[in-house]
Amino acid sequence: MVVILKPKTSTEEINKLTRDLESKGVTVNPVIGTELIILGLVGDTSKLDPCYIEANPYVERVMHVQEHFKKANRMFHPEDSIIDVNGNTIGGRKISVIAGPCSVETEEQIITVAKDVKKYGASFLRGGAFKPRTSPYSFQGLKYDGLELLKIAREQTGLPIVTEIMSPYDIEVFNENVDVIQVGARNMQNFDLLKELGKTNKTILLKRGLSATIEELLMSAEYIMAGGNENVILCERGIRTFETYTRNTLDLSAIPAIKKLSHLPVIVDPSHAAGKWWMVEPLAKAAVAVGADGLIIEVHNDPQKAWCDGQQSIKPELFSNIMDDLRIIAEAVGREI
Ligand code: PEP
Ligand code: MN
Repeated sequence: MVVILKPKTSTEEINKLTRDLESKGVTVNPVIGTELIILGLVGDTSKLDPCYIEANPYVERVMHVQEHFKKANRMFHPEDSIIDVNGNTIGGRKISVIAGPCSVETEEQIITVAKDVKKYGASFLRGGAFKPRTSPYSFQGLKYDGLELLKIAREQTGLPIVTEIMSPYDIEVFNENVDVIQVGARNMQNFDLLKELGKTNKTILLKRGLSATIEELLMSAEYIMAGGNENVILCERGIRTFETYTRNTLDLSAIPAIKKLSHLPVIVDPSHAAGKWWMVEPLAKAAVAVGADGLIIEVHNDPQKAWCDGQQSIKPELFSNIMDDLRIIAEAVGREI
């Protein structure tokens, strides 16, 4: 529900009405513009009577919102959200790059890759410890040992770590040890997991489901935000289409669409989108050109021997070249890396 106030409503009146509405169990997000004052009401508005609110002389109009997502909606939060992870920001002018292997394999592997990606300009280290594999016989990740190796890599490089959670049972461990918790495409609609993540204060990297619409992605973000955690980064990682040449089809149009609908930062994963290492470069460039706030790229020191997703992993040298080109593209679109 949206309450539109008369243009010259005083701060005192706004606060009074806000307190009154909040006493009925909703959260009020005010947007105070020069032309318009809007109160965005989030929560269970079923107990609010629009006639009662409209009886207030400062209220111009009460409107029911068609959009199902509220906290993630740009309507109630016109400014871009900038998420801070231990001093590293995602969103705003800077484009952030998360890089690292698909999965953590050995101490030597994760440290080597972490040092390389840091040298070439990544600001976060990725690495899966819990892997959602299509086959139960494929490598499932080093699990808790993998988290420990990521922590060693963080200690040695200073890079914050981004890693995927699969189960709500692991939230405490992730909350304690990880800087950004990734929710993978396969768990985008694991609503129990999303609700639990909403109770934490961690930054959540929410990847778009394999066949999820943009609205479904935003509704999943809403699950986390409705719980009180507004530190959500969205990720376009390719969707299932009839095309089989690529692993998925990168939906570049999702970036401007999400930017229009939501204030949350949105990044692109060209590695899982294409499933081919040589496509990472052109897709990463396109992502920056189209307005992405960042990239998540799989980098491996020896892709041919990778335990997971070697075919789409690039070597550190290519990562370095791509970063050089991305700096030029970023500048052309008014951003920086
Ligand atoms: C990953 O990032 O390693 C991963 C499994 O990605 P997605 O959930 O997008 O498939
Ligand atoms: Mn992978």
